Amino acid sequence: MARGKTGGHPDRRRQKRLRVIPEPQDTARPIVAPADAAALNVIGGFDGAPDFVCGSCGRALTRGARRAEIVRFVLRCGGCGAFNDARADPHDPQQG
Ligand SMILES: [Zn+2]
Repeated sequence: MARGKTGGHPDRRRQKRLRVIPEPQDTARPIVAPADAAALNVIGGFDGAPDFVCGSCGRALTRGARRAEIVRFVLRCGGCGAFNDARADPHDPQQG
């Protein structure tokens, strides 16, 4: 069925790929699963913040969360199980 334009621009959120890391052996940072990532959405909710996506499969792990808030965690992707690290990415000097 045809769906009329709802006006405005399409939802083109910025996306930033997280860095995939090996399974952490230390317990310095909690590992959060996708269900927990919903909580991160609550923490975030900033329209200007990008979605952080799995560096392996591209699945969105957070929406509207700022990097400063998610660096405390290791984000485990619910799609491929990769461990994603939001800490500074050498390819992204602006750090979101
Ligand atoms: Zn993934």
